[in-house]
Amino acid sequence: VPELPEVETVARALSGPLAGSRIEAVEVLRPDLLTEPEEKFRRGLTSRRIGEVGRRGKNLVFSLSGPQLLVINLGMTGRLLFAGKNAEPPRSTHPGLRLHLHPGGTLIYDDIRRFGRIRRLSPRAWALESERLGPEPLDPALSAVAFQERLSRSRTPVRSWLLDQSRLAGVGNIYANEALFRAGIHPARPARSLSPGEAGNLLKALRETLAEAIRARGTTLRDFRTAEGDPGGYGPFLRIYGQEGSVCPVCGSLVERMVLSKRSAFFCPRCQPKVS
Ligand SMILES: [Zn+2]
Repeated sequence: VPELPEVETVARALSGPLAGSRIEAVEVLRPDLLTEPEEKFRRGLTSRRIGEVGRRGKNLVFSLSGPQLLVINLGMTGRLLFAGKNAEPPRSTHPGLRLHLHPGGTLIYDDIRRFGRIRRLSPRAWALESERLGPEPLDPALSAVAFQERLSRSRTPVRSWLLDQSRLAGVGNIYANEALFRAGIHPARPARSLSPGEAGNLLKALRETLAEAIRARGTTLRDFRTAEGDPGGYGPFLRIYGQEGSVCPVCGSLVERMVLSKRSAFFCPRCQPKVS
């Protein structure tokens, strides 16, 4: 499932080539990805000019003339692929939407399982929705003190807390597990049990992990592709996620797996003791 680094990778790759382009034609191949009638969606997008391409949480946000926004959530298997003017388009097996751009290029939304969502929103509607998301972990305005204060309000296991988009935006299971390992915190510990020092270490670990993953252009376990159609490069650098039974790279203990809120959590029993 694409998380913050994967979505950021796509946003960064698209923002340059798309800025200033005009949407000339809209081809909807899978109307079930939309939240409005196909005809209305097509009319609403045609002739709009694309401004910035950004990210909020796990959402790609295209600002369009009008003004309006195109907000795309990649769901589990969504891909946004871009082909420049005279380039061969990246391989798309399950195209759901094609935007033909002027002066050139095609943006393709491809999604095998179709849990993704493509919405056209007013800036006001999106602002209201965005307010309900938690802060961005990479936003320097999020202080360690504020982070610990947020953690202290909840007895939820910290791994599950990190996945709650209303508490912190953009983090999913891969990077939550990686950051907890780096910070030496057991995934099942109640969020509010973290000391101010541990909360500070966790925020630092999250930021380092996310920044490294963005530099490597995200993690591909199976489905994620960059806008150019390539897999992300961070997979080989995962230290704990999916490593059950492997040797901990720090202490040599065997990595264990447990289930929290129906999702796997991976941890080293020695580096991440249950009680601090
Ligand atoms: Zn260890």
